[in-house]
Amino acid sequence: MARAPRNPALGPPPQAAAGFVSGDCRLIIDLGKIASNWRRLQKTAGRAVCAAVVKADAYGLGMAKVAPVLADAGCTVFFAAHLAEGLALRQVLPKAEIYLLHGLTPAAAAQTVEARLIPVLHSRGDIDALAALGRRIGRIPVGLQIDTGMTRLGLEPDEALSVTARDCDGLEIKLVMSHLACGDEPQHAKNSDQRRAFAVLLPKLFPGLPRPRTSLAASHGIFLGPEYHFDMVRPGVALYGANPHLGHPNAMEEVARLQGKVLQIRDVDTPRTVGYGATHRLNGPARIATVSIGYADGYPRALSNRGFAYFGQMRAPVVGRVSMDLMTVDVTGMPAAAIVPGTFVDVIGGGTDAALDRIAALAGTVPHDILTGLGRRPERIYLGCGE
Ligand SMILES: *Cc1c(COP(=O)(O)O)cnc(C)c1O
Repeated sequence: MARAPRNPALGPPPQAAAGFVSGDCRLIIDLGKIASNWRRLQKTAGRAVCAAVVKADAYGLGMAKVAPVLADAGCTVFFAAHLAEGLALRQVLPKAEIYLLHGLTPAAAAQTVEARLIPVLHSRGDIDALAALGRRIGRIPVGLQIDTGMTRLGLEPDEALSVTARDCDGLEIKLVMSHLACGDEPQHAKNSDQRRAFAVLLPKLFPGLPRPRTSLAASHGIFLGPEYHFDMVRPGVALYGANPHLGHPNAMEEVARLQGKVLQIRDVDTPRTVGYGATHRLNGPARIATVSIGYADGYPRALSNRGFAYFGQMRAPVVGRVSMDLMTVDVTGMPAAAIVPGTFVDVIGGGTDAALDRIAALAGTVPHDILTGLGRRPERIYLGCGE
């Protein structure tokens, strides 16, 4: 049946956004600042190579946008976690050296090799399997993870020492790495214990083989001192704006800014409660603004009654529970002109006190968790670098 012609008084037809992306909440990502953060980290790392960790879609900020900008800035080595991430990264970076932190997916060994992805192996079984393949098809570049204190992925130091040059026939060991458990606690004794264990082990590994590059530090480890740099450092979260040097002012530039739109202003005069669970009580006259950001967008529900929204530099406390799509903030006493519906307010970043690190601390978590928890709904707007 033919549809009736559209009434022109309705204006242009609405656009359905792919994947339910909404312009009523937005995530503004400054790619130029990611590049300058990398440059700063490279400078701090001195002669060590500064790689970039872009796992989990570059911590939720969009690997396909972020990685080419880092490559343009001069970054040549990248780390993904899953094979799927590495394959996607290879599509955007045809030349880069790409490591897979999750190592070898045995069923996909051919795919890994074909895409020139370098698995970071963490077991004798993986070494044996890939070496056997390498002896058939030609030497396969690999990394090796050694566990010096995480009890997560990696060979035990003794296990690593037992690997002989002959076991590695068919492999080219390009990188030996380990990972710090307490890098974000600079005073923790475990840092120097792990560093020492790693440093002592290195000269004893694979006698007779060329010396591979070595790596220990992620973002925070870079700032523990040059003795933690080895040949390569592997920052992730610092690239995206978190402070890697705790106890010092943040030398990284802010990258991500989360904003929501004011949907309604409510003037109330009778005593009442706000939101789910009735956790906030208004006793006298008050003005409440309802903002189109909720925990589905990645704003932590733990910031119920604790977070802030910023109207420019004016700060309005979150009152009541953060719900899935909305939060309520108390704007009593603010100039009415500043808080009209349709205004975008900052809830993370934007040069306000709601910096990424502060939001994470208030929510009782780490900035990694805040970034990777950002929802798919906010429209991503990219600034800087070739846009
Ligand atoms: C995620 C990860 C990194 C990056 O850590 P950041 O704290 O984000 O800098 C480095 N190395 C390994 C092994 C990782 O898993």
